[in-house]
Amino acid sequence: MANFETVEVSTDLLIVGGGFGTCGAATEAAYWAKKNGLKVAMVDKAALDRSGAVAMGLSAINQYVGVRDGENTVEDYVRYVRQDLMGISREDLVYNIARHVDSTVHLFEKWGLKIWTDEEGKYVHEGRWQLMINGESYKIIIAEAAKNALADAGGEIYERVFITDPLVENNRIVGAVGFSTREEKFYVFKAKAVIAGMGGAVHVFRPRSVGEGLGRSWYPPFNSGSSAYFTLKAGAEMTCQEVRFIPVRFKDGYGPVGAWFLLFKSRAISAEGGEYMAVRKDELQNWAPYGLAKPIPANLRNYLGMLDMDAGLGPLYMETNEAIGKLADQYKDDPKAFKKKMKELEAEAWEDFLDMTISQAILWASQNVKPEEKHSEIAACEPYFIGSHSGASGAWVSGPEDLDTPYKWGYANMTTIDGLFAVGDASGASSHKFSSGSHAEGRIAGKSAIKYIVEKGAEPAVDTGKVEELKAKILAPLDLWAAHCNETTDPEVNTNYILPRQFMFRLQKIMDEYAGGVTSAFKTSKSLLERAMELFVFLKEDAEKLAARDLYELERCWENIQRMWQGEAHVRTILFREETRWPGYYFRADTPKMDEENWHCFANCKWDPATGEWEMMKRDVWNIPGV
Ligand SMILES: Cc1cc2nc3c(=O)[nH]c(=O)nc-3n(C[C@H](O)[C@H](O)[C@H](O)COP(=O)(O)OP(=O)(O)OC[C@H]3O[C@@H](n4cnc5c(N)ncnc54)[C@H](O)[C@@H]3O)c2cc1C
Repeated sequence: MANFETVEVSTDLLIVGGGFGTCGAATEAAYWAKKNGLKVAMVDKAALDRSGAVAMGLSAINQYVGVRDGENTVEDYVRYVRQDLMGISREDLVYNIARHVDSTVHLFEKWGLKIWTDEEGKYVHEGRWQLMINGESYKIIIAEAAKNALADAGGEIYERVFITDPLVENNRIVGAVGFSTREEKFYVFKAKAVIAGMGGAVHVFRPRSVGEGLGRSWYPPFNSGSSAYFTLKAGAEMTCQEVRFIPVRFKDGYGPVGAWFLLFKSRAISAEGGEYMAVRKDELQNWAPYGLAKPIPANLRNYLGMLDMDAGLGPLYMETNEAIGKLADQYKDDPKAFKKKMKELEAEAWEDFLDMTISQAILWASQNVKPEEKHSEIAACEPYFIGSHSGASGAWVSGPEDLDTPYKWGYANMTTIDGLFAVGDASGASSHKFSSGSHAEGRIAGKSAIKYIVEKGAEPAVDTGKVEELKAKILAPLDLWAAHCNETTDPEVNTNYILPRQFMFRLQKIMDEYAGGVTSAFKTSKSLLERAMELFVFLKEDAEKLAARDLYELERCWENIQRMWQGEAHVRTILFREETRWPGYYFRADTPKMDEENWHCFANCKWDPATGEWEMMKRDVWNIPGV
């Protein structure tokens, strides 16, 4: 076996992942841990300052309720999420996050984040729930607060350690294992409670950008399904694994469209000039009541554009020039003011990309796009798993203690495994939390996990035999490479192993062609999904034969194994849900209609670590009375 030193870390609370959810968890947990004399350790596969989905920065905070100024109520937010998710959301979780999110945003401002304000000092909204920010350094600011809180409480941070598996004994979490991505070290974390927050998953499906563009995607490529894998492998019940997210974005550079639609009030049109949201309005009747209420759910907006594409009306375009023109129009009688306004709008248009998707600005520049002169192509991206955004996949977690919710079996945000909590993309059915809501949810879970440790925390009984087995399994790709690398002249071709890149392509091909990816126009069916399951059997066999030339590739191997588990949970759940509820995200062509009578419910799944069997189940949807 590869000769890695084993490093053991004992802590009370282990926070896995250093993104928005877990930075929130660290900030809050550190405070309560210090009061109770407990230790907190945090571990991330990257460096906190630039890790996760917000690595490049963002140009807007997407969840702010504005209770202080009477802008909205928490109940308004619950209704909004219910509507956008076609009736399927955990309203207790959404409510809990919404009632805490404003205070999180105020903390962000206190920590140094520049939130745009108008002449009266009020926040500038991009849309009803979104605030404009100068967000290039958003992640650094939030990470700094988490680091300071941990330092103040005597906590520890481990960066560049990739977590693979949970350690579970008798349905109770006792820690996690992983390896350094820089040194030959295997890590064993022993903990009384664990908060999982390793983001969602990208590159499970074949991306639009292949070949020279490989690596470009809407969702930064760092998150590989570690949360789903970790919670599934622990034996936790999962929810909404079918609810992937497909954003419509500027094509190929994946630049954001939010500012265009919401701030600049831009229209999206087909190549023939028809505005699909207007031309195809009647289609929305088929998706009542959600299709007929406002705002129209994101998946239905996607769907109307996809219908245009199916009808041969593509490409689709964002009317940037028209939007800028209309905004500047009010100054048309004053040439100096007009010129100034045009410059300002142009700067805002570019800054939107420079804040969070620099590659789109580069693409625009290389294609001579001047947004004020010419419209720009948009397209539906490949599917992603991002339960904190407009998808919903994640673990099934316990609701808030003070709400009369039917989903309550323990501490807030605890999964069905004792002591294992989930936040952000790792916790399901509570979409639209975004950066701020994930952080707020992290704070909720951080406090809750410390309460769990104080009331129920037991010394973690880690089975050393199991840890040794895991170590051998996790490092096996290095051994396999060493054993067979000299048998062929081309290291990429070898009957004894498969390299992670090839393996990823195989996974992506299955997902793309059978589970409704880009090349199958987001359509699938029972037979296609069953065929995918047959192919998964071979893929899983070959996962045992993954080989790694170095530490870097060892990480790639495990990222792809985790993606495979996310993919399988997804395929099984779309197969289970015999209806089409989220056209625009995926379309079950053999069950093309929404079936409120039989499928107005959560589709949950669970993998049993003892038997290796999957179980699928329905769970009722509960609406907050009177909301
Ligand atoms: C392209 C894009 C645009 C967005 N735009 C906005 C926006 O404008 N406004 C807004 O409010 N929100 C936006 N969001 C949503 C926001 O980024 C997410 O909701 C939020 O980051 C989720 O937090 P998280 O903690 O679950 O995941 P992340 O913040 O992604 O953090 C996950 C962390 O886990 C770590 N990790 C992953 N795997 C492992 C492993 N195996 N071992 C150890 N660590 C691991 C990662 O390094 C990372 O630090 C956007 C998201 C994306 C992808």
